[in-house]
Amino acid sequence: MNCSEMHDLVIIGGGPGGLTAGIYAMRAALKTVLVEMAAPGGQVNLSDAVENWPGDERIGGSELSLRMLSHAQSYGLEIRADEVAAVEPGLDYHTVHLAGGACLTSHAVILATGGSPRKLGVPGEKEFYGRGVSYCAVCDGFFFRNKNVAVVGGGDSAIEESLYLAKLAAKVVVIHRRDKLRAGALLQQRAKAECRIEFRWNSVVTAIKADANGVTAVELQHTQTGLPSELATDGLFIFIGFDPNNRLVPAGIKKNADGYVVTDEKCATSLPGIYVIGDLREKYARQIVLSAADGCTAALAAAHYVETRKAALECALPENPAAGRA
Ligand code: NAP
Repeated sequence: MNCSEMHDLVIIGGGPGGLTAGIYAMRAALKTVLVEMAAPGGQVNLSDAVENWPGDERIGGSELSLRMLSHAQSYGLEIRADEVAAVEPGLDYHTVHLAGGACLTSHAVILATGGSPRKLGVPGEKEFYGRGVSYCAVCDGFFFRNKNVAVVGGGDSAIEESLYLAKLAAKVVVIHRRDKLRAGALLQQRAKAECRIEFRWNSVVTAIKADANGVTAVELQHTQTGLPSELATDGLFIFIGFDPNNRLVPAGIKKNADGYVVTDEKCATSLPGIYVIGDLREKYARQIVLSAADGCTAALAAAHYVETRKAALECALPENPAAGRA
């Protein structure tokens, strides 16, 4: 296989983390390529509006993505539209194999492949995403001020987000498939004490209904009696878990029990020269601004790593074949 394309840094994933890493890497004069299989911007592209990106009170998700992309490209960042098949760690260089058969060798790799909210898989979920169906209360809750919303799930995320939504919405109905919450005791206590939060126990959503203005109702089924019912609502927030996109994380890199990659404060993994940023990384909160911050941190750390590696390779014995490739 021809792996002649040598880079200082390969960034995998073109969301806010990857694009920010690209900006910082280019400013640090690293020979960098960013590989993205879809439109750059990641999940932000799917947001109708972003209202918590500092400096922009309100900006369309796709507009914010385009601005990040054009900022990165203004430094000459090479963006390659391709799917990454595998990341092969090496002692001297890492190799990124592309689905089309080509490969890229690099001193450092930043994985910025994000994660995906777990889906219910019911009719209406995909069709009405962004028109009443949401996976992010902080992003979309503001659009439901004084309206009625429903939340699916009984874990920490569902209850935390319900408490957040209760500050904005007129009423929040938590739909849970059992009669006991999975969330921690303190969160449960707070949710049960919140007069705007109601619970619909032993119930699953079987379909989501909408009209031209957005979601209007959800169809439910009782998990014990099997009886169907309908709940009128202006929005449905789904928090039934989040899956990190960790398929490309090489074996040997430490992950936590939920599949998120454990890094140090520089976003460095347990394999030298491989960094993980954004939603794929174990962290407290998942926000655009935090992914961007990770991108900055990892690119600065990678620049230092590459400089050190190049210096070490220059000092290597002439018979070392790796010395000639830097
Ligand atoms: P989670 O803990 O896995 O909870 C998912 C919830 O969704 C569960 O209540 C589950 O029901 C329900 N569920 C799963 N699949 C479903 C389906 N197909 N239909 C209906 N309901 C479904 O996920 P999470 O709340 O996103 O939390 C993920 C991890 O992050 C957890 O370890 C959590 O403790 C942690 N977290 C911590 C904090 C915090 O400490 N502040 C905040 C957020 C998240 P069952 O209960 O019946 O399984």
